Amino acid sequence: MKYDVLIIGAGPGGIFSAYELVKLQPQLRVAVLEAGNPLDKRKCPIDGKKIKSCIGCKTCSIMNGFGGAGAFSDGKYNITNEFGGTLYEYIGKAEALELMHYVDKINLENGGEGTKLYTTANTDIKKLCLQNGLHLLDASVRHLGTDINYVVLENLYEHLRDKVEFFFNTPADTVEKLEEGYRVVTAKGEVFESAQCIISGGRSGSKWMEKVCRDLGIPTKSNRVDIGVRVELPYAIFSHLTDELYESKIVYRTEKYGDLVRTFCMNPKGAVVNENTNGIVTVNGHSYEDPVMQTENTNFALLVAKHFSEPFKDSNGYGESIARLSNMLGGGVIVQRFGDLIRGRRSTKSRIEESFTQATLSATPGDLSLVIPKRILDGIIEMIYALDKIAPGTAGEDTLLYGVEVKFYNMEVALDNNLETCHKGLFVIGDCSGITHSLSHASASGVYVARYISENL
Ligand SMILES: Cc1cc2nc3c(=O)[nH]c(=O)nc-3n(C[C@H](O)[C@H](O)[C@H](O)COP(=O)(O)OP(=O)(O)OC[C@H]3O[C@@H](n4cnc5c(N)ncnc54)[C@H](O)[C@@H]3O)c2cc1C
Repeated sequence: MKYDVLIIGAGPGGIFSAYELVKLQPQLRVAVLEAGNPLDKRKCPIDGKKIKSCIGCKTCSIMNGFGGAGAFSDGKYNITNEFGGTLYEYIGKAEALELMHYVDKINLENGGEGTKLYTTANTDIKKLCLQNGLHLLDASVRHLGTDINYVVLENLYEHLRDKVEFFFNTPADTVEKLEEGYRVVTAKGEVFESAQCIISGGRSGSKWMEKVCRDLGIPTKSNRVDIGVRVELPYAIFSHLTDELYESKIVYRTEKYGDLVRTFCMNPKGAVVNENTNGIVTVNGHSYEDPVMQTENTNFALLVAKHFSEPFKDSNGYGESIARLSNMLGGGVIVQRFGDLIRGRRSTKSRIEESFTQATLSATPGDLSLVIPKRILDGIIEMIYALDKIAPGTAGEDTLLYGVEVKFYNMEVALDNNLETCHKGLFVIGDCSGITHSLSHASASGVYVARYISENL
């Protein structure tokens, strides 16, 4: 099967590179290989009743399939260079922002119209944060919501399906460099050849990406891992921030160790969910635009970044071990009341049931101090007290902490400013490049490479 361009992975990176390629060069033969299912076949079996926690499906419907890891996400497209990746280091700040706005425009044209764009420009919350040792990062955020995000993906698929050949349940196994172009052999033994190849395997493809880099002699660098908890509290406590900004990225430097702790992925009126990365169950969160689906709680993560280089390099392995420990003690995700944590006692089923904050995820009551390293946990506790000053109630007895939340980052693949590897015509984009870790940056990197390929045909 011969193509002009082969795209591996149908997450936002792969989708937006396909979108831009067929827009600019409709005559090209483009194929997308995707390890997971089409969008309508993606269904996580956890229903909260019969199946309460992850049963380790062959392909995880949350992480794999059309739409990638972002398909059931909250659909928060952060338009900023301040977080979400370091794409701007390769392509410049202005172009990175321009591409993120372009992606936003396409999302609006495909079902996102009418969704709200929040911004930190001119907000008084910045001052309030500064007065309390907290730093609010600048961003605009388009909140599609899990439901509209799904509609946008459905429409993008409808738009692409007769212009691009999609192969679902088709994980790429090997990538081989030919004299001209690339040969990709799938796990089922099918052979695809193409003049150019864009790899966009996301976080779930990280181990596979490492193998590809080893096989092709592409240099890589270890990246950081973020470890922390997901905080859940009544919506009212954070409403003055979330009503105005929706998502606020706040950074705090701890007094004790000088570590940076930050808020991440804020979901007003949202729900806490399980996430499965390579069989390890961690925690995440999302929220819906549709009021019927909304809850009375807000959730967000508090994370501390750790980066190991010498002699131990495996930052992800470190994060994995901590997550495994929580899985070992809790059979999955552990939940603890902040009051119990501070008193040095575990939360029990009855303490969680009696809590005024009703948990939106059924997790195992336990003791996070047995899982999370002291330095990280101390930082998180300090930050909760700091946040309590701008949002009183954050450090409440019944604030729920779910652990662990781990953000794995792919190792950084050595790429030039065109996101091209040392092999001409082989590009690595999105989260599997290690340089993006968000919907908007991953999507923007896809558009960028498509434009580059189009200009250099
Ligand atoms: C629950 C959840 C909520 C999130 N919420 C947000 C949010 O609100 N805002 C935000 O900015 N980010 C969010 N993120 C992160 C965001 O989803 C990712 O940054 C983004 O999806 C990265 O896009 P990508 O295309 O690089 O990779 P992915 O979306 O991971 O897509 C990669 C695709 O490649 C496929 N693949 C992997 N290996 C192979 C292979 N060998 N062969 C074929 N296919 C392969 C996978 O199946 C997957 O479908 C969230 C993530 C999760 C899990």
